[in-house]
This record gives sequence, structure tokens and C-alpha cells, in this order.
Amino acid sequence: MSESRPIVIGSGPIVIEGAYVATVDAARTEHTTGHVVVHGNRITAVGAGPAPDVEGAEVIDGRGCLLTPGLVNTHHHLYQWITRGLAADSTLFEWLQTLYPVWAGIDEDSVRTAATGGLAWLAKHGCTLTTDHHYVVPRDGGDVFAAEIDAARVVGLRFHPTRGSMDLGRSSGGLPPDSVVETLDGALTGTADAIARWHDDSPDSMLRIGVAPCSPFSVTTELLRESAALARESGVLLHTHLAETLDEEQFCLDRFGCTPVEYMREVGWLGDDVWFAHAVHLDDAAVETMASTGTGAAHCPTSNARLGAGIARAADLHAAGVRLGLGVDGAASNEACSMIEEARHATLFARARGGPDAMSVRTALELATIGGARVLGRDGDLGSIEPGKLADLALWRVDALGHAGITDPVAALVLGATPPLERLFVDGRVVVESGRTVTVDEESVAREVARAHDALVAGAG
Ligand SMILES: [Zn+2]
Repeated sequence: MSESRPIVIGSGPIVIEGAYVATVDAARTEHTTGHVVVHGNRITAVGAGPAPDVEGAEVIDGRGCLLTPGLVNTHHHLYQWITRGLAADSTLFEWLQTLYPVWAGIDEDSVRTAATGGLAWLAKHGCTLTTDHHYVVPRDGGDVFAAEIDAARVVGLRFHPTRGSMDLGRSSGGLPPDSVVETLDGALTGTADAIARWHDDSPDSMLRIGVAPCSPFSVTTELLRESAALARESGVLLHTHLAETLDEEQFCLDRFGCTPVEYMREVGWLGDDVWFAHAVHLDDAAVETMASTGTGAAHCPTSNARLGAGIARAADLHAAGVRLGLGVDGAASNEACSMIEEARHATLFARARGGPDAMSVRTALELATIGGARVLGRDGDLGSIEPGKLADLALWRVDALGHAGITDPVAALVLGATPPLERLFVDGRVVVESGRTVTVDEESVAREVARAHDALVAGAG
């Protein structure tokens, strides 16, 4: 079977019972043997013990499982799913210089293939809401942004793609080759069009658009300022890469005479409608600035380690009250792209850096769920298991060989190997069942991804 088959299960109510329920609510309520009831796309009941009788419900046996909120990914580049494994041993700037010419060859077909593979994989690892940061817009590549939105509809994830842009090519002192950058006007028009065409700010929204110039070393100051104005006129969020490497800090010091966070203040890019990917190289003043302005961050520990960029001060950011979520980052710098690995790496790296008390497993689970929802402005409707919230839920099997006998199911999830995913619900609909993403045919997607990778790399050679 090769065609995509969107699936709609659970038009009637759903009851999950017998699972260990980690609600991730403000009180960190957990039920050793609990239940959750879903009507339509909303959670209607959560509690200890068996569920009340719900007429006509599909009852899911959660014994041997841990139920958590769906994981929220706050930084990604889905198109990179077809450029994995390149420049495997390089710094960020070398890696970018190797990959820009490859990325310059993407088009709407290859982006659809990449996004379908990347989203299906995120789903298999418990992710229900993901952002994307798409900043490579080749002139003759067709509508690459529409392609990834189509892919998200097919796979069935809640999607917050950000329309990225670059307008500072190599000839102007930037890092990317001129062939992959847009003009200032082209970038702003493309971004405004994307907001007008797709942004849905309703509470149940499956699709929200953000504005995301790529980074200080690939966009002009004008594009940053104009993007902020556009986002604020439109009521959408702002996102960019910031303080990822020491090279970037040096670039900002040389070019602007200030650190990356100071530069962001200068261009009006601080506030509760902004989040930065990475935020690795921050001094105490930068941490305080982010906290006091409500600026959020996507902590991407695996990608930062893969590129040797450093280890972000996640525990300090969290302690300072910075809105903090986790991100897999693009697959070209994190071939695994598993949100549950990000939670594990966040915990381990925080402790390696700051000692055994630096981050608890429950804090890591919060960052992966409600923390991410806060970063994306969705914590009123998502990120915890509470009556009235949207039914984005992950049911993990923790009674098989890898996890049976681990005392604490939350520790099993965060510190153990990634458990098999019994079910994943997005908006009350099943997207993963018994470890397989059921909305697409995984084998044919894998074949298409391999073909697209080979064609793209051959084209760049
Ligand atoms: Zn990134």
C-alpha cells in the first residue's frame, strides 16, 4: 500500500484506563493507576482508578503504560530530513558552508518528501505539536512552504511552521551563498502571504504561522526590524537562531559591537512573542534580559553537542524563569530527531554541567511538554493532561524488556531507552498505533526519502 491514508478514529468518546498518568499539571499530579476521558478533541475527565462509564466509548487498556501529554518540539528544519549524515564531523560554520549548496537544490516535491518523513518520525517518538523553521526558499523551487504544510496535514501533527528568510549573502558579508538568499522585499512579502493564507489563531488551531529570519549572520538588520513589525501587526510569534556558537558571538561583536542578545534588544526582538533557538552562549546579563522580557528559548542539546557548539545553560534559564522548551533542531545536525532523546540529553547535560540537582526527570518532562507549549503560546490548551485541554496524548509501553522493573515510569521514560509508543493522539485522533505511524505508509516514505536524498546530493555535486 503506498498512498497516504489520513485516518479518523474516535469520532465517539475515548477512555484510556489502567495507565500510570503523569498529568504534568502545575501540581505535578500523577496517578499510579489512572484514567483519561476524551470527547471529540478535548479531554473531559482525568483521575485515579477506573474511568466512569462513558456510553459508546472506545476503551483503551493502558495497563503497563505511562500516559503523558504529547511532546512539543520548539525548533526544527524539516527539509533537512533528506540531508542527513553530511559534514558529520564539522563545526557549524563549516557544516553550513557544505550544506547550503545542497539545500539550494530543494523544491516543493523534495520538501514534501522530507517533511513527511520527518513528521512521521517525530510522531513515532511522542511528538504531537512541532514547529518548523523553513528559511531556504530557492527562486525556482515552487511553493516549498505549502508543501510542508500539506505534509503536516497528511501525517496529522499539530503544526507551527515559521516562514524563515535570509537576505545577507556572502557578497554582503553574510555566510550563505548569494544563490539561496532572497531580497528584503521578497522575504517580507512571502512571509506576509504565508500568514494571510494559513495562520489560524483559534484555540483548537492545528496550524499557526510564525515569522523567522534565519540568524544574525544570514539576515540584515532591516529584515529583523521589518519582520518584527510584520509579526506584531499580524499577531504572530517571532523566532530565530541566536547565540548558538562562539563564531556567531564574534560575528556580532565585530559587526555590531555587541553580543547577540544585546543586538536583539537593539532591533526590537525581545518579548513574550519571541523565542530563540539554542541560546547557548549567554552571560548572566543575557539570561536576566531574557527572563525580564519574557523571551523564550528552544533548548536543543543534541544538535548543540553534534556540532560541538557547547552546552546551553538550561538549568540557569529555567531557574531564572525563562520560558523554555526543547527542540530537536534540523535532522542534518541531529540525525535522530527524537524529542524523548532531547529530554534525556537535557537532563544529562544539565547534570554534567551543574551537578546532580541541576535538572530532575520531571523538570525535563515539563520542558518537553508544558514548557514547549508555553514557548509557543499554547499552554492554555496544550502541554498537560487536564479537563478542558486538547487531546494530544502519548501512551508509552513501559512493561516490556527495556523498561519492566524500572521503579518510576517517568524515570523510565526520561532516563531509559525510548519506550515503544502504544498510541499517539493528536486532537483526539490516532496518529501512532503499536509503534507505527498509521497515517502514512512508513516503508514507501522511507524509500522516497532515500531517493530524494540521493537526487539532491547528486545535483549539488
Ligand atoms: Zn536550527
